[in-house]
Amino acid sequence: MESDPTPTVVLHACLGVGHLIPMVELAKLLLRRGLAVVIAVPTPPASTADFFSSSASAVDRLAAANPSISFHRLSPPEYPDPDPDAFLQMLDTMRLTVPSLVAFLRTIPSVAALVLDLFCIDALDAAAAAGVPAYLYYTSAAGDLAAFLHLPHYFATTMDGVSFKDMGKTLLRFPGVPPIPASDMPHTVLDRADRTFSLRIGHYRRMPEARGVLINTYQWLEARAVAALREGVCVPNRPTPPVYCIGPLIVKGEETAKGERHPCLSWLDAQPERSVVFLCFGSMGAVSVEQLKEIALGLESSGHRFLWVVRSPPQDPAKFFLPRPESDLGVLLPEGFMERTRDRGIVVGSWAPQVDVLRHAATGAFVTHCGWNSVLEAASAGVPMVCWPQYAEQRLNKVFVVEEMRLGVVMDGYDEELVKADEVEKKVRLVMDSVEGNKLRERLAMAKEMAAEALSDGESSSLAFTEFLKDLKFANSPNNQTVVL
Ligand code: UDP
Repeated sequence: MESDPTPTVVLHACLGVGHLIPMVELAKLLLRRGLAVVIAVPTPPASTADFFSSSASAVDRLAAANPSISFHRLSPPEYPDPDPDAFLQMLDTMRLTVPSLVAFLRTIPSVAALVLDLFCIDALDAAAAAGVPAYLYYTSAAGDLAAFLHLPHYFATTMDGVSFKDMGKTLLRFPGVPPIPASDMPHTVLDRADRTFSLRIGHYRRMPEARGVLINTYQWLEARAVAALREGVCVPNRPTPPVYCIGPLIVKGEETAKGERHPCLSWLDAQPERSVVFLCFGSMGAVSVEQLKEIALGLESSGHRFLWVVRSPPQDPAKFFLPRPESDLGVLLPEGFMERTRDRGIVVGSWAPQVDVLRHAATGAFVTHCGWNSVLEAASAGVPMVCWPQYAEQRLNKVFVVEEMRLGVVMDGYDEELVKADEVEKKVRLVMDSVEGNKLRERLAMAKEMAAEALSDGESSSLAFTEFLKDLKFANSPNNQTVVL
């Protein structure tokens, strides 16, 4: 007699390195619990292949590094007239991919659930069409989710036709999060006349349709936001699905995964404990040539050791998300900078093994763009942050890291044309040398301990994951009867 096929969880990812990485970590967790997993990724339509090419190659890299996880590339949708805006191209691609996802779901004998990335909300329709339970996997802060879920109500009741872009630094008050300056809201919701605005508000309105929401965070880090989500106060007049804080799900480190060592780690080995400032702006972030020069001057006059990842600035701001050539450091940095700082700093073009760097004993501070994976990685490694948000929801994350979690300080001028060298020097000295820096380190030591604890058996994130699995069983049992695990 043939045994029943192993229940399969289909994870539907969007093409973005910062989204794919935590999706792979979730896949590993599900595999360890005996479920089959497929990560279904969109294939870029021919008309947008340029924009997606770096993320598409990230899928190849991740698939090669994780042979136990199966990746399925959904067929590319027709998208003859792509929106000129790269972010909208991504959202349109995800929406147009829904039919291909439905077709794929129907080929799998036993789908236990469809788990959606936060940019794949339209795929709720795919789950409904295929008759499978749908969960959302929120790969940014619970605080972001609390604020975003509240936005449809906020705009309907409070804003009176005004847009955030016209409110300057007016403080916005949402349940579960500290006051947020309107100018720190993501650009996608700043202007109610934009197409991105209506699409994103539509997504936030639909999010509660998911059966449950997995969040890559941990209870201690965002207790207030998590409580607001659980109490249902973020989405008034409508039930909020259960939330499961299962993080921090972060990579183990390049060293472990590939068995080879990046040269910057050998350089770190030779530096004193907690002496190095690490600067890195995520998988896409880059600053102008003028800004690179200010950073270089600030680092030089701080007198501290540094490890700096420099990515080539985009020639054209509209092409910010397009892949860029390897940085020509000789041209980008001030003349003589590399020679003058040779004994105490290194600059890496494009990519460093961030998790390994943050965990290295020599690393003392992290200048970060506040992408959520970076925040989790820093918190888990106990490294204080200097927050320099660049795009997406990073300004919101900056508010939470500084005001709520108290794990970092702000690089002032992040919202102006240029952060001056003086400010770079000042903030590096603050986190590395001062009493305030020491206090931050103490708090980070706690964040690190609590991150490890959350994931251990019987603790918050591990329990939340078990609760999620129970719900999954319940959703898949005949007549929704509770099934013993
Ligand atoms: N990352 C890395 N080396 C780099 C740049 C980025 O390892 O030089 C990794 C980083 O550790 C994190 C991810 O890429 O896991 C970036 O995700 P995040 O959410 O921080 O930012 P995003 O790239 O999505 O803006």
